[in-house]
Parts: sequence; structure tokens; C-alpha cells
Amino acid sequence: MNELFVQALPILKKIEDNGFEAVFVGGSVRDALLNRTIHDVDIATSATPDEVKSIFSKTVDVGIQHGTVLVIENGESYEITTYRVESEYVDYRKPKEVKFIRSLQDDLQRRDFTMNAIAMNMNGDMIDPFGGQQAIQRAMIETVGNANDRFSEDALRMMRALRFVSQLSFTCSDETLQALKDNQDLLKNISIERITAEFEKLLCGVNVQEALQLLIDTNLFTYLPGFSDKKNELIQVAQYDLHKVCNVDEKWAVLLYYVVNLNEVESFLRAWRLPVKRIRHIRAILQAVYHENYDDKMTLFTNGIDCSLSAIRVSYFLKHQDSKQAEEQAIEIWNSLPIHDSSQVNVNGTLLTEWSNREKGPWIRETLHIITTKIINEELPNNTEAIYKEVHRCNLI
Ligand code: ATP
Ligand code: MG
Repeated sequence: MNELFVQALPILKKIEDNGFEAVFVGGSVRDALLNRTIHDVDIATSATPDEVKSIFSKTVDVGIQHGTVLVIENGESYEITTYRVESEYVDYRKPKEVKFIRSLQDDLQRRDFTMNAIAMNMNGDMIDPFGGQQAIQRAMIETVGNANDRFSEDALRMMRALRFVSQLSFTCSDETLQALKDNQDLLKNISIERITAEFEKLLCGVNVQEALQLLIDTNLFTYLPGFSDKKNELIQVAQYDLHKVCNVDEKWAVLLYYVVNLNEVESFLRAWRLPVKRIRHIRAILQAVYHENYDDKMTLFTNGIDCSLSAIRVSYFLKHQDSKQAEEQAIEIWNSLPIHDSSQVNVNGTLLTEWSNREKGPWIRETLHIITTKIINEELPNNTEAIYKEVHRCNLI
């Protein structure tokens, strides 16, 4: 049994000692069967949230309406979720009612795919009523029960199917694949945030090329923000093995290089509800890719080393070239820069206004830019006296 399961065994035992059932379930059991790294274990129980809270002294209500209680024991925290069924879905996404139940089998039945509907008890025995282990052995994604029904209950499951194709290199069963094609339009009912979370996992999987191809073949891509008329562009992206790109923002940059113009990047990513900071970062990477001047000191300084290295990796990846040498060169130039941040310049706007007796205005920014450029290019030492002389000599103020 994996170390993380062993660590959590006392939790299961405590629940069972109180007369309830408790098992490991979901992604951690699946990943353990696949010998993949497990990050956290999910525990399911026949005890209601109130009963769980009465068993443990330290608990937090993290999602009590869904039946999840966070238990803190020996400095570790565990999410414990009551067995439940979700009756009657509204708008293909929201269960009308979550009902707590005592039957593990019924809880497993409401789960999306057979590989995710396996439970493991304290002794390491598998409870696997839907043939999940067999599906894992055959590397198959198959829904628990009828695929059409399951996708129309919650259309996000279609995106989950594709992200598992990408993460696990599994294949969709024929029935699942057909249902993806038949229910594609239901994806429009799903909130962007949920789609984005699954799509980013898809982008980061080892088998991303296959998953992108499936997005195209099933037509699901048309329901992703900004992609409805981008089939040809997506086909081009699917030629690349995005798994070889370093991180998710660089993967976005490669994707967007084909899908939109630089001036459309921001609105495109806003539609995906990405945080503003990440949107700016991805846009800066792309701008540097278009600019393609990685050895220029001022460009390096302005973009910063992280963005510059990302731009180099993206740019070389797009050209099918190895970026290692260019990255090393950029790091060398970066390390040789006299300053790495504009706050290190030994003059500021207030000092410039004092020196010039001029009103504050856009000239301050322009002057600071000229001074910074001279410092970066080592035409001017970064000390206040030298800067004072230089601004007068060049009539900058
Ligand atoms: P990951 O390793 O990325 O966390 P996961 O399978 O654990 O993958 P989660 O989103 O953490 O995915 O969900 C935990 C479990 O809850 C799943 O394994 C599955 O049994 C169930 N589940 C999650 N989302 C759905 C859904 N939309 N419909 C049905 N069951 C779901
Ligand atoms: Mg999980």
C-alpha cells in the first residue's frame, strides 16, 4: 500500500471503530493502481458530515453542502466525503439535490468513469463493482453506465474524458467516444472556470497531442472560448508535442501563436477567465517571441529573465530547434547586467523634478527610460552624481 494511504489508515480505523464504513476512493486509488505519483488521498464514508465531525476533535467545514469535511489529525489534513447521490441534474451541470446515503456501491455509481469508481478499504481490498481495474489494465476510459446519460447529467465529464486521455494516455471506449460526439453541444452549459481547469490539465498531459486531436474529431473544440472558428489553427497546433514545452503558460503561448494575433491575446485569455497576472505574462512571452531579439540587453531587462527564457523556449520549440544554447546565452547576458530591476536605478521621478524645476509629467518616464537604457548598455554608471551630469549634458531635463 502506498505510503500516503498507510499514513491515513488511522483515520479510516477511527471512523470504522465508531460503527461506520470508510474507504479510499477516486483519483488516488486509480493512480496507485497505475503506479503514478499520488498527491493526496480522498476518503469516502457512510458517516454523515455531522457524524464525521463528532468523531474527530479538529474539523473544518470545507464543502459541507457536498458532504466534505476536512479533518486535521497529527498535523495532516484529510478530506472526508460522505457517500452521496446527486439526484436530477438541472441544465446539464447542477445536481438539484445532493443526498447523503449509506451505500458505497451507490456512491461509486454516481462517479464519472469506471477507473474513478474504485474504492479501497483498510485491508487494501478493492471494491470495484463496475470493472474499473479491468478498464485500467486495458487503458480504457469508459463511463459508469450509459455514456449519453452520464454526459447529459454533467457535460464537464466530456472534458474530463479528454484530459484523462492526455494525462493517462488512455483511449476512450467506442461508446464513450460516440457519446462525446453526440453530446458535444451540452458543453455550452458548463461554467468556463470548470472547463479551464480541465483544459489546462489536458494541456499538461503527456499525451496532449492525441487529446487535441480528439477535441477536433469530436467537435468539442467549438464550445471552447474563442475556438469556434479555429479548426485549422488547432490542427496546426496538434502537430506539435506540447508535452515538450516547459510549463502551462508556455503551452498557452504556443497555442495562441497559431490561434490569434498578439493584440487579441488579452481578450482571448480573459474569456478563459485566466488571472490578469498570468494573462500579462503569457502576452509578454508572445510579444518577445514575435520580437525575437533575445540577446538585446534592454529587451532582456524589460522582460525579465523568466519571461525571456520562456520566450526562447517557445520560439525554438516552434522552429523545432533546441533552445539550450540560446537559454544559456540569455542567462549569461542577464547575469552581466548592472541592474536587474528599475527600482535599482539611482535616481527617481522626485529627484528629476527637483533637478529640473519642471512640473511632473510624461517627461519623467521618458527621461528615466533613457537613463535606464544608458545604464543597461553600460554607457552610464549607476550613481546619482554621474546621472545628474548626464541629464544636464544631454539636455534631458
Ligand atoms: P486528479 O488526479 O486530477 O485529482 P481525480 O479523478 O481525483 O483526478 P477529482 O476532480 O479530484 O479528479 O475528482 C475526484 C473523484 O470524484 C473522481 O475520481 C471521480 O470519482 C469523482 N468525480 C469528479 N468529478 C466528477 C464529475 N464531474 N462527475 C462524476 N464524478 C466525478
Ligand atoms: Mg483528485
